[in-house]
Amino acid sequence: MFNLILFGPPGSGKGTQSERLIAKYGLKHLSTGDLLRSEIAGATPLGMAAKSFMDKGQLVPDEVVIEMISSALDNNPQANGFLFDGFPRTTAQAEALDKLLNQKGTEIAVVLALQVSKDELVKRLLNRGLTSGRSDDVNEDIIRARIDEYERKTAAVADYYKKYDKVELVKGEGSIDEIFDLLSKEIDERIAA
Ligand code: AMP
Repeated sequence: MFNLILFGPPGSGKGTQSERLIAKYGLKHLSTGDLLRSEIAGATPLGMAAKSFMDKGQLVPDEVVIEMISSALDNNPQANGFLFDGFPRTTAQAEALDKLLNQKGTEIAVVLALQVSKDELVKRLLNRGLTSGRSDDVNEDIIRARIDEYERKTAAVADYYKKYDKVELVKGEGSIDEIFDLLSKEIDERIAA
């Protein structure tokens, strides 16, 4: 199994690059943002509880997303590997993920961290808000709150994986193809290692 985390702030291109990477490497895409949005669309109790946090640009409580990921791992026993997108976002989530993967006899192979400047992130997200239908992409204050939440809580996740020498920084500005090539190169190196 080859499991990777695509890591970076909101608007860094995780969703776009994930789609291409799962196709190239045959991985199962697990995006907690997508899973939460489908819970909201289905008006489930979990979705309703998560929505109030998401609408403010805040993180949903750890227990909720960890439980969601745990079920997703159990529901995909045949997967060649997983690409985690938007998860883990806190150190507690990273520790929980390590434990879950460990129980399945596997681990995270690499964390690819996309590097994008704050001004570029805000520009991209406002632009995405014109077409995405995502309520958290249209308001600049909510966008900035999400980026601040990332800096306050999520940046620490990279430090957690740095201890295990699993983090590769990847330039996240440039064309989609250029960034995809850089990501693929890092993955190919880890697969060959
Ligand atoms: P995303 O689609 O990854 O930008 O996520 C959209 C929103 O969903 C975030 O702003 C959070 O409110 C929530 N969310 C997604 N993933 C997580 C996570 N791993 N932990 C906590 N909240 C999350």
